[in-house]
Amino acid sequence: MSRNNSRTLIIISLILLLSLTGLYLCHMRNTEASEDFFAMDTIMSLQAYGKDADKALADARAAILNLDTALSVTNKDGSIYKLNSTGSCDLNDDLQYLLERSIEIKEMTDGAFNICIYPVIKEWGFTDGNYRVPDEAAVSELCKLVNASEISVNTTDNTVSLSDGAMIDLGGIAKGYASMKVRDILKDRGINSALINLGGNVCVIGSKPDGSPFSIAIKNPEPDDTGVSTFTGVLKVSDKCVITSGGYERYFEKDGLIYHHIIDPSTGYPADAGLKSVTVVSDDPTLADALSTAVYVMGKDRAVDLWHTMRDRFELVLLSDTGELYITEGLKDCFTSEFEYRIIK
Ligand code: ADP
Ligand code: MG
Repeated sequence: MSRNNSRTLIIISLILLLSLTGLYLCHMRNTEASEDFFAMDTIMSLQAYGKDADKALADARAAILNLDTALSVTNKDGSIYKLNSTGSCDLNDDLQYLLERSIEIKEMTDGAFNICIYPVIKEWGFTDGNYRVPDEAAVSELCKLVNASEISVNTTDNTVSLSDGAMIDLGGIAKGYASMKVRDILKDRGINSALINLGGNVCVIGSKPDGSPFSIAIKNPEPDDTGVSTFTGVLKVSDKCVITSGGYERYFEKDGLIYHHIIDPSTGYPADAGLKSVTVVSDDPTLADALSTAVYVMGKDRAVDLWHTMRDRFELVLLSDTGELYITEGLKDCFTSEFEYRIIK
């Protein structure tokens, strides 16, 4: 081979090598991204793995911020504010889905989940942080209003209207729905591994990039003796949502008593059904979020009865006020805990 020929060969090889490296780098570009931000009154943390993961997460974040405005009870630019202050508003796909699911889950839980709880939530000051223990007679009147409240979803003229005095609060279901939207957006962008954590409402897409399941720790409401947070247990899951509710996250103290933000619609007072924390595991994050709130109101026995009727749709991890830990049977192969626990069959 002449000197010229071998030089040409070296140059061609170099170009080829550079192109291949470029192609590889291009393919690897943005294969891991994360976004942390504050929305819906909580800290949200998104992590995604795959091509252009950063762009996918930026879209997901924008969608959450839009939902935050639309669904907030206090944002004057949103649909819910308008609905609560005027008794009606325009219907859109998000609202239709959320209202229909809320009505379905209210029936499923015999009224333990009821988004018409808002007048009572407001009276306790949970909306503006101006906490107070309301007058008993006022609570009882508001409870009557809550239980008589009706939501009419009109798909002919695309409007929603509320019965007289009714007001709704999607705080018990909105984050679950938001995580479903994020999951859809990321999947549409070709992401097949992601961890979506909307203030303790966790949803995972696929498995970790190394193929192993994600580990989701369930916070123990009781810190250890030195005040450090501990975990009730860990769930190893792929393609699942793990959503926890408890009275320990948002509450106030008055005269030595604790009042938290999950209200029993039958009494108008903070639910006191013997549970400290409820975790719902499901493919359906909207259901899981609403059910975590409802089960906290229902207590263990009613919750287990419900699980028996629809055990293909969700599983439970329950921690009672007295420290007993229970899991439903479907979690037995993915749950671990340093505490003793019983399996509900
Ligand atoms: P978090 O939002 O703290 O994760 P939850 O999902 O349990 O907790 O939702 C609690 C919120 O749900 C309350 O702040 C209130 O807005 C609303 N809520 C409270 N009680 C009920 C109820 N019985 N049914 C429906 N929504 C409720
Ligand atoms: Mg909830």
